[in-house]
Amino acid sequence: MNSAIHDAVIVGGGPAGAAAACLLAKAGRSAVLFERETGPHHKVCGEFVSVEAAGYLRKLGLDLHHLGALPIHSVRLVRGRSETTTRLPFPAFSLSREVMDEALLRAAADRGAEIRRGVTVRSLAEGEDRVTLQADGPVAARAALLATGKHDLRGHRRPPGSINDLIGFKQYLTLAPEQAARLAGHVEVLLFPGGYAGLQPAANGRANLCLVAAKPVHDRVGRRWETLLDHLREESPAFADRLAGATACWERPLSIYGIPYGFVHRAGIPSRRLHRLGDQLAVIPSFCGDGMAIALHSAFLAAGRVIDGQPALDGSAFAGQIRTATLLAQAIRRPALQGLAAGAVRLAPGLLKAIAYATRVPEEAVP
Ligand SMILES: Cc1cc2nc3c(=O)[nH]c(=O)nc-3n(C[C@H](O)[C@H](O)[C@H](O)COP(=O)(O)OP(=O)(O)OC[C@H]3O[C@@H](n4cnc5c(N)ncnc54)[C@H](O)[C@@H]3O)c2cc1C
Repeated sequence: MNSAIHDAVIVGGGPAGAAAACLLAKAGRSAVLFERETGPHHKVCGEFVSVEAAGYLRKLGLDLHHLGALPIHSVRLVRGRSETTTRLPFPAFSLSREVMDEALLRAAADRGAEIRRGVTVRSLAEGEDRVTLQADGPVAARAALLATGKHDLRGHRRPPGSINDLIGFKQYLTLAPEQAARLAGHVEVLLFPGGYAGLQPAANGRANLCLVAAKPVHDRVGRRWETLLDHLREESPAFADRLAGATACWERPLSIYGIPYGFVHRAGIPSRRLHRLGDQLAVIPSFCGDGMAIALHSAFLAAGRVIDGQPALDGSAFAGQIRTATLLAQAIRRPALQGLAAGAVRLAPGLLKAIAYATRVPEEAVP
């Protein structure tokens, strides 16, 4: 057993955990991060990097251009045959999670954090003067940062969110050249009954198709990716056109189920030693493309609290943004409201901008 007491242990090496490790190490704190994956890996994610997320990544020393980020300047709403395009009110990017998460871990290691790869944390207990976690052995620290993202640690399970029945998928595609050209610089959001899909350009001439579908829809189409895609093509000829001649880059898509969308951590009495961040603090519906900004923002807040010896943050700072996003996400699953939304956006494309603003981390909250 290692008898040293670290200043902080971080569980999870996604954007939240890696950013926090980076900030703690930079402030001279001894920080040990545990990541269960042994190396770079893909994640179910639309990979839309909002202006706020991009700002945090730069603050942490990442050069987005150097990492292969592609600019996204417009959003195109697709439903059935209709398409409405409007310019985003802010610059955004498409950046591979495999690349981004790895660059953040490297930045944390460069600043002196100890990164322990391929180690799964099994439990985390809070005591009077320390936290103790069990991984490949017991480890003690003055503070713990819980950043396991989509996965709950035993004993620290999040309650259900407001939307719990969505299955998420991600697949990289190579589009036909004319369709790839039409997609360049755009994030396309396809609305279909029971879910929505995002399509945007990705590095190496590929496109990232990331979607969520209600479980009953997935069941109805026979629980197969191919039949789900056929279903989406039937729902939207515009989407079918985009996928005409496309080839899948992976044999199977990545998938995930049971995300508690709309969850916001509320602490009656704030913990002095256990800090939640990222998806363990608050989960925003995927179509907002703001999960990474929240992960990074909460990492700055949590690291600041650990450095100053303050109690843990609860999710109130994000509650308003997440409530708005969740109401919208509930509404746009319904075919009748999808029709209304698509019609309203067609008449007033500026609505998409208003929605984008209403569901973002407020600019003034950026530390
Ligand atoms: C379908 C879908 C699409 C999305 N699209 C976007 C988008 O386009 N833009 C955007 O900004 N956000 C998007 N998001 C949200 C975004 O992916 C998350 O908000 C973000 O990844 C949260 O970061 P995190 O660091 O909290 O968790 P994660 O990125 O999930 O990282 C957690 C890490 O912890 C590790 N881990 C878990 N358990 C353990 C353990 N016990 N021990 C050790 N390590 C452990 C995991 O391996 C993982 O690397 C999307 C989410 C979904 C589901």
